[in-house]
Amino acid sequence: MYIAIDDTDFPGGMCTTYLMTEVIHRLDLDLIGFPGLVRLNPNIPYKTRGNAALTARLGTGRGEAIDVGRYGSRKVLSWNDCGETGDPEEVAGLVLEIVKEKYGKHPNTNPGIVVSSTRFPSWFYREALRREIMLEEAMELLEKEGASYRYLGNGRGLIGATAAISWEQERTTYELLGYDHAGPRPDNGRMIGLAREIDSIPGTFASMDEENQRATIFPSPRTPVYLGIRGHDHVVLRSLMETLQQHEETRCGRYMLFVTNQGTDDNVVEEPEQLTDLLTCSITGTVASLPVGSDGGHWFCDVNWRGMLVRTAAYEESGSLASAFRMLRPGDMVQITGSYNSGNLNLEKLNVITQAEEYRRAPSICSCGSFYRNVGKSGLKCPSCGDARGYHSYTLRSRARITGIHLPPVSSRRHLSAYPGSRDGGNR
Ligand code: ATP
Repeated sequence: MYIAIDDTDFPGGMCTTYLMTEVIHRLDLDLIGFPGLVRLNPNIPYKTRGNAALTARLGTGRGEAIDVGRYGSRKVLSWNDCGETGDPEEVAGLVLEIVKEKYGKHPNTNPGIVVSSTRFPSWFYREALRREIMLEEAMELLEKEGASYRYLGNGRGLIGATAAISWEQERTTYELLGYDHAGPRPDNGRMIGLAREIDSIPGTFASMDEENQRATIFPSPRTPVYLGIRGHDHVVLRSLMETLQQHEETRCGRYMLFVTNQGTDDNVVEEPEQLTDLLTCSITGTVASLPVGSDGGHWFCDVNWRGMLVRTAAYEESGSLASAFRMLRPGDMVQITGSYNSGNLNLEKLNVITQAEEYRRAPSICSCGSFYRNVGKSGLKCPSCGDARGYHSYTLRSRARITGIHLPPVSSRRHLSAYPGSRDGGNR
């Protein structure tokens, strides 16, 4: 049976991943496969942080088991096959009790719990990555599929929970999360040292943001998550869990390895039929205006896409991406990836395919050795010998090469965003 929960936290505390570890721990059922950490549309205004929903398959384990987590010294086993499943209605009730006890009580927190004997069709997951889904749409699918569900508040969490059970796990990466660390966090220098060590392990990605000197494996201390290590190889992450436990600085009271859709670009629609609000898309066009800067350090230019001018924005936080964007010139051919909202495409990735040639007016010298002077519409005239010319000379201006892919610093990237390193172990 598949269970899913969403919307259990608020900016000041809790984390739905932690609540899922609690559910797995307390239910008297085995874990089948990896628990899933499913990122949904990153442009949804209701999200607390990274718009994550959580899912897990539970039942009576059969076949082979591997170790995917720890509660203190106890291993969490995950089975590759399932026998008996249990009663979804009863399990939904039990999960509701755990959520009620643990969720972050806040006016904008609206937990949703779904339990189903089958996976839902994947179109719902796809839609939940691309647009805003209404609660009624989720309820309709839940009714149609005969799922059991419970909710608190306005029940909005049911949307994410339904989407999590619809995830077909076509493209996957992993994240090892550690919780309940005893003692203080190491100082910044040490955190950076640890992040660099982990970043150098093949099979992991995005552990260190060198551009901003930030150890991304250590998230904000306001949540129960002490550390998070991403990777595309679960064998590497499982063996890392052993190593982390040996050292005081990285030892956690609880670990869990999640399968995720992070770093997969699952949300990106290539060349959509039209640009709609909240969509993340990738389009290829020609730069149509010089980039202009704003007071906040943000840059804007128009890109001609199928004859339509798309206002494109690169924000200051995007670091070297914004620097490359500033150097674009009209005529450059670019592939731009980003989220579209209210007429703006907010850039998350820039691929400069070709750079246009740029010319500048060169000083025109007469055969008598003097410089021609500009005499308005009629062109140029030599002040010494009076020779007249109807045109200016131009020379090719040399431009810094910016062809290739430009990305924001690691800590400014969207969870779902794919980039070299994140997909190596994926299916594309
Ligand atoms: P965290 O990552 O820390 O768990 P969060 O960023 O996932 O938090 P939530 O507190 O879960 O944020 O809030 C997101 C809310 O948005 C949930 O209620 C979820 O059901 C809803 N939601 C997610 N995707 C969509 C969508 N495509 N359309 C409408 N609502 C959505």
